[in-house]
Amino acid sequence: MSVTIQFCGAARTVTGSCTLFQTKSGGILVDCGLFQGPKTLKALNYGAFPFHASDIHTVLLTHAHIDHSGLLPKLVRDGFRGTIVATRGTIDLCSYMLPDAGSIQESEVVTLNRRNTARGRSAVTPIYTQADAIASLDAFRPVEYETWVDVMPDVRARYWNAGHLLGSASIEIEFAGEGAAGQPLRLLASGDIGPDAKLLQPDPEAPTGFDYLISESTYGNMDRPTTTTEGRRQRLAAEVRNAALAKGALLIPAFAVERTQELIVDLIYLMERSEVPTAPVFLDSPLAIRATDVFRKHASSLDPNVDINRLLSSPHLRFTETVDESRSIAKLTGFHIIIAASGMCDAGRIRHHLKRWLWNKGCTVLLVGFQAHGTLGRFLEDGAEAVRIQGDEIKVAARIRRIDEYSGHADGPELSRWIAARRPVRRGVFLIHGEELALTGLFERIAERIIPTAQIFRPIMDDIFELSTPTPTPIDVTRRRRLTPEAVVAFDWHNDMSKLILAINERIEAAADDRARGVIVRKLQRALEEEH
Ligand SMILES: [Zn+2]
Repeated sequence: MSVTIQFCGAARTVTGSCTLFQTKSGGILVDCGLFQGPKTLKALNYGAFPFHASDIHTVLLTHAHIDHSGLLPKLVRDGFRGTIVATRGTIDLCSYMLPDAGSIQESEVVTLNRRNTARGRSAVTPIYTQADAIASLDAFRPVEYETWVDVMPDVRARYWNAGHLLGSASIEIEFAGEGAAGQPLRLLASGDIGPDAKLLQPDPEAPTGFDYLISESTYGNMDRPTTTTEGRRQRLAAEVRNAALAKGALLIPAFAVERTQELIVDLIYLMERSEVPTAPVFLDSPLAIRATDVFRKHASSLDPNVDINRLLSSPHLRFTETVDESRSIAKLTGFHIIIAASGMCDAGRIRHHLKRWLWNKGCTVLLVGFQAHGTLGRFLEDGAEAVRIQGDEIKVAARIRRIDEYSGHADGPELSRWIAARRPVRRGVFLIHGEELALTGLFERIAERIIPTAQIFRPIMDDIFELSTPTPTPIDVTRRRRLTPEAVVAFDWHNDMSKLILAINERIEAAADDRARGVIVRKLQRALEEEH
C-alpha cells in the first residue's frame, strides 16, 4: 500500500503548478501548468515531463490560469488518455485560454527561430500548437462544487470554491484504506486561494480534518491593509486621475481573465459617476474579449450587487480584436486607457504598448497583479531604469505605479487563517507555489502557532514523499532532478546578464568623453581576461 506525492512544479517557484499522486492503480495529477518567468524555468516547458503522460489516469484541475493549466495540451499530445476533471467555469475559460496559449507558443517559436537561424542554431518546435490545445479540450469532464466524484478505484475527489477566479477550486482527495488504521488518507490541495471580500467572488471554502494539506504561498509574506469595495475604487480613481494629469496613456497589464473584467467594472463605474475623467478604455486582447463573454454567461453565479452585463457593455469600452486595430491605438496621443495581457508583461500585446510608451514621462503603467521573478513586470516593479523588449533597450521614463487591491490571492494573514480553519491536520502541511520570501513568510506565520514546526514542509521541485507512513517520508530523487535545487531557487543568470548589459550601456553613455568610454571598455576587457 502506498501513495506518493511528487512535486513536479511550483515548488519553491510560483509558476508551473503540477503535483503527481502515484498509487498502485495509476497516477493522478493536480494541475499541469506552464512555467513562466526565468529562462531556466521556461526551458522546462520544452523538456520531458518527469513522468510518462500515458501513466496518468486523471487530471484534477484547480483553475484555468495558465500557470496551472498551460501544459495540459502537451500532456494530451504526449499520450495522456484519461479525463481532465474541472468545474464548468474552468472548462469555459480553458476553451479560450488554452487555444490562445497554443497560438502564443507558435508565435514565440517563430521569433525564437528567426534569432536561432541568425545565430546558426537549429530551429525549435513549439511546446504545443493551437490545434493541440483544441484537441485537448475533448478530455475535459465537468464537476459540480461540493459533490464527490469517483476518480479511479478507491480514490474520490470533491471540489470547493477557492474564491480566486471564476470556476476556481480547492480539491479534497480521499484514498480509501491508505490512512491510519485502514481509514481513508485525506488530503486537500489548495489551488490558488482568493482573498476575503474579493470583487465578483465568494470567500474561499473547504472542509476540516486532513492528513495532509498542500497550500499555496504566493503572498505568504504580505500583509495587505483590509479593503472595501469603495476603498478599492478610490485607490483606482486616484491613480486614474494622476495618469490623466500626466496626459499620456495609462497602460494596465492584466490577466485577460477576471482581473480585466474587475478593472472594467470599476473604471466604468467611476466614469459614470464623474469621479475620473471620461476616456476611451481599450480592451486590447482577443482573449479578454472572449473571457468577458464567459463572465456575462456566468453572471448569475457572481456577485449579485454588480450589474456585470450593463457595465461590460459600456460605450466607453472599445474592443480591439485584430492586430491592425491593436496597432492603430498605438498611434493615439493624450490620455487614454489600455488594458492588455499578459499580466506580468512577459508576452502578449502589452509588450508593444510598453515599447511604444515606456520612454515617455507622460505615460503611467499601473501594475495590478503578482509579478514573478524574471518577468518584465517584475523589472518595472523593482524600478529598472531601462528594460529590454524584443531585443531593444527601452529607457523607463513612465510613471510605474502599483495597487494591490485587485489581487486574486489571499495575503499572509488570510492564508494562515485558511490553514488554521482546516485543522486538525494530522501528518503534514506542504507549502508550495511561492518564491523564497513568501514561503518563509508563511512558514513563520503558521509554525507552532497553527501547525507544529516539524510538520511543515517546503519541498523543492521534483521532490517525492511517501504519504502512507505516519509522517511523510522523503524518497531519494538525486538522480531524477531536472534542475539542481540551487538552480530552482537561484535568481536566473539570464536576468543578471540583461541587467549587466544595461548597466554597461548606461556607464558608457554617462562617461564624459570617448577617452573615458575607452577606459571603461578596457577595464571590462581586463576583468574578462582575468576570469580565464
Ligand atoms: Zn491562479
